[in-house]
Amino acid sequence: MVTKLPKVDIVTTGMGWTGGIVAAELTKAGYHVVGLERGVERSIEDYLHGHDELKYNIHKELMQKLTKDTITFRNTLNDAAKPVRDEGAFVVGTGTGGGGAHWGGQTYRYFPYDFQIRSKTIEKYGESKIPAGVTIQDWGISYDEIEPYYAKFEQMAGISGEPDPLAGHRSIDYPTPPLKKLPQMKMFHEAAEKLGYHPFVVPTANVSESYTNPDGETLNACQYCAFCGNYGCEYGAKADPIVTVIPTAKKTGNFELRTNSIVTRVLYDGTKATGVLYKDTRTGEEFEQPADLVVLTSYIFNNVRLLLLSGIGKPYNPKTGEGIIGKNYTDHHTITGAIGYFEEKKFNSYIGTGSLGSAFNDFNADNFDHANLDFIHGGQIEMHLMGNEPIANNPAPFGTPTWGKEFKKNSLHYFYRNVTVVSQRAILPHKDHYLDLDPTYTDDYGDPLIRVTFDYTEMDHKRNEFLVEKCNEVVKEMGADIIDTIPMAEHFGGRFTFQHDGGGVIMGDSPDNSAVNNYMQMWDVDNLFVCGASAFPHFGPTNPTPTVGALAYRAAEGMIEYLKNGGGPLVSKK
Ligand SMILES: Cc1cc2nc3c(=O)[nH]c(=O)nc-3n(C[C@H](O)[C@H](O)[C@H](O)COP(=O)(O)OP(=O)(O)OC[C@H]3O[C@@H](n4cnc5c(N)ncnc54)[C@H](O)[C@@H]3O)c2cc1C
Ligand code: SF4
Repeated sequence: MVTKLPKVDIVTTGMGWTGGIVAAELTKAGYHVVGLERGVERSIEDYLHGHDELKYNIHKELMQKLTKDTITFRNTLNDAAKPVRDEGAFVVGTGTGGGGAHWGGQTYRYFPYDFQIRSKTIEKYGESKIPAGVTIQDWGISYDEIEPYYAKFEQMAGISGEPDPLAGHRSIDYPTPPLKKLPQMKMFHEAAEKLGYHPFVVPTANVSESYTNPDGETLNACQYCAFCGNYGCEYGAKADPIVTVIPTAKKTGNFELRTNSIVTRVLYDGTKATGVLYKDTRTGEEFEQPADLVVLTSYIFNNVRLLLLSGIGKPYNPKTGEGIIGKNYTDHHTITGAIGYFEEKKFNSYIGTGSLGSAFNDFNADNFDHANLDFIHGGQIEMHLMGNEPIANNPAPFGTPTWGKEFKKNSLHYFYRNVTVVSQRAILPHKDHYLDLDPTYTDDYGDPLIRVTFDYTEMDHKRNEFLVEKCNEVVKEMGADIIDTIPMAEHFGGRFTFQHDGGGVIMGDSPDNSAVNNYMQMWDVDNLFVCGASAFPHFGPTNPTPTVGALAYRAAEGMIEYLKNGGGPLVSKK
């Protein structure tokens, strides 16, 4: 039996970054928001004495349990997909804070080029530069239009950083100064500058000094403890929804959080979303929550899945190119580059933060000429000092045996003598890469899992080869005695990068090319908003959350406008 609850203004389906931002903004504007979250409620006390590598980094305590719910994966349309059950390969947050509870905190903006990638590429190089099958499109928003929302996200999260000289314009300085430059970072800066590049200290949500945000929430100064990505921060020094936007929503008195509540359907009457159906994960009880506005904030896999399960929007068909829900899926592959080993130098390998490091963008976006290159876009070259946790890391030059005397000698010697320089690259969409409902596998409730069809394209490989060479060049200039190259596998092997997935409910300037407009409002169901990287038409060069957050702030502004005006589309159809 389904219990029907009283109607509310807004219901959201997940309380990570996007759910938290929407809840904070809408409750501040006086609306009643119910936040449904499938996981438990977390507080900073849960993270106390949490420096347990086995529990958090290896067993992934804070993540979705893949025995109960996962995705399936295949490379091509002709393969049979299999469920992903390896928690080292697929990590997605659950519980209040979502992925924001255990993110590393790297907070880069995308480049102006990203938002107009198709038109800028054609304008400069002609349409033939875009390979057949690559389905890039403009995002329906320019960098100048999204910039104030990036600023809002950075102010809320207290981001520490210094400007990247090659990035788009900034209307504000970073709210807090950059983190400290450790010796390896100084070496990186010197090498990059000698080579003629433009390094900067990575912007981060590991806040460099105590900071109170415009909503009155205080973040403490980072301790460089290095138990950061995959862990919660016990010091309250990492911007996380549970120390920023969720308390802001709670303070208003207009917010109701319901945890252990998994949304299974969006209710849809053919024109409007009328609410959601959800289950209490402890008792199995089912509830209907009616609402004026439904906001999907459940990360891309569940955003897409909820639409498909609820029969909203036309599913994408890769064979005909028709339909839109599920289109342009991309997984952001981030880790290829070079490891340098130094015989005469010894570093403190334990100190670090989730995003301490340095980077440069001379080979990113269209910051360099692609006329004689057989790829478009590029990537960021970067070095990170996240702390070498001893179970997960055993850096020793390739060729070191995996056991015995030499293994022990090299492991001890090189643990303190290595630096890794990697490239994070844009990954562009392809007509055959998409999300749909798996025809075979279901979750605990009998609903089909999401199926991912994805592989790297030839252009992804060419872009990677180019950038790996640049990583090698930097490590050599840093003076490494041994350099090992970290290659990209020929095919995507189903190791999904830390919640760096995009697409499925993409944005654009017309219902012909997109599911949502630039307020994340569905073109065809105007009281249904879908927030998150599901809106990305391609995966930009770096970590997604600032762009996810900026778009969530813009969506929240649109929702307020929508409710004030009594409904209607926020962008007219082309
Ligand atoms: C280890 C790790 C490190 C990362 N580091 C970085 C970084 O350095 N920089 C960066 O930019 N990004 C990073 N990310 C990515 C970042 O966490 C995500 O971009 C961000 O959390 C996405 O926000 P979201 O609101 O879309 O999803 P989430 O934060 O994942 O929130 C979604 C919420 O919805 C809930 N939910 C899902 N389905 C349902 C349902 N059916 N019903 C009810 N609730 C549901 C989930 O439990 C979750 O709480 C990292 C991620 C991981 C895992
Ligand atoms: S490195 Fe800094 S932000 Fe990260 S967990 Fe430690 S104190 Fe917190």
